[in-house]
Amino acid sequence: MTSRPSMRVARLHGPEDLRIDTVPRPEPGPGEVRVRIEAALTGGTCAKMWRRGHHARLGTAPVAFGHEGAGVIDAVGSEVLGFEVGERVVPADSAPCGTCAACDRGLTAQCEAMVWLTGFFADALLVPARIVRTNLHKIPAGLAPESAALAESLATVIKGHDRTPARRGEHAVVIGTGVLGLLWIRVLTTSGVRVTAIGRRPERVATARAFGADAVLDAAAVARTKARVDLVVDAAGTPAASTLALELVSPGGRVHLFGGLAEGTTIALDAHRLHYAELLLTASFHHTPFHMAEALRLLGEGFVDTAALLETRVPLADLPAWMACTAQGGALKAVVVPG
Ligand SMILES: [Zn+2]
Repeated sequence: MTSRPSMRVARLHGPEDLRIDTVPRPEPGPGEVRVRIEAALTGGTCAKMWRRGHHARLGTAPVAFGHEGAGVIDAVGSEVLGFEVGERVVPADSAPCGTCAACDRGLTAQCEAMVWLTGFFADALLVPARIVRTNLHKIPAGLAPESAALAESLATVIKGHDRTPARRGEHAVVIGTGVLGLLWIRVLTTSGVRVTAIGRRPERVATARAFGADAVLDAAAVARTKARVDLVVDAAGTPAASTLALELVSPGGRVHLFGGLAEGTTIALDAHRLHYAELLLTASFHHTPFHMAEALRLLGEGFVDTAALLETRVPLADLPAWMACTAQGGALKAVVVPG
């Protein structure tokens, strides 16, 4: 009798309780593929999940951890079309159903029957059939797995930008100089928008400027410039940042709430100003298969200096300790490698 092969997967058992568990290696069923993970990324969502012990959209603990990564297909189930063993891929962390009322209106991030996928911090990952069909993407030649894994983050930014486009010649303020803030700076400046970044971390100033920001200031300094602000993007994801965004925008301008806040969070909103200054308030969540494909295409063309965002490499075995050190905020992305 042969024992079934096993593999390691990082699982969240509760708030701040991340463990590397050994589990049977999954075999792909009809329509599924198994991906040997080459690189997975930590990020703000991971930090939030780690602190809360769960994620609003991903069920309760224990939950397989990690939602961004890339690897090589090492097993293919029956009925899989278009993918073969040995291909380098990025599985998205979700796939909409395409048939519910939300999907029917094109709001696929609001799908009422979304399939979610976590467990990228592992030796291997079983990709559900629906993701294989609609949201599994081949990596452009020459793109490193850790760079390709940034597609998920970039896709959320491109989708947010689609929802609140900025026009050439406008001035935007981006609050937050984490990975998502930096990607917003890149996307906006590429569209011909002048960007001022608000960030507290001195070590990010050079990166923000390299991504295209004209200046990196604190909030008071931005207000003092009295420059017209057509768009403010809150990419910091704190109640204070959301309120600040509404204060900084000029009359007739737009505010985009991009950072996700915890359930039950309320923000102060100057309703008088919202009306009389005719502000437009938008938000966006997650991404779509279209934006995933677009993000990966852009990464393949070198749109983003990915090395500037990928701070360090962490062996899978060390991930629990790494999260405990960094989840309180401040870190850019770490590349987690099975090793
Ligand atoms: Zn749907």
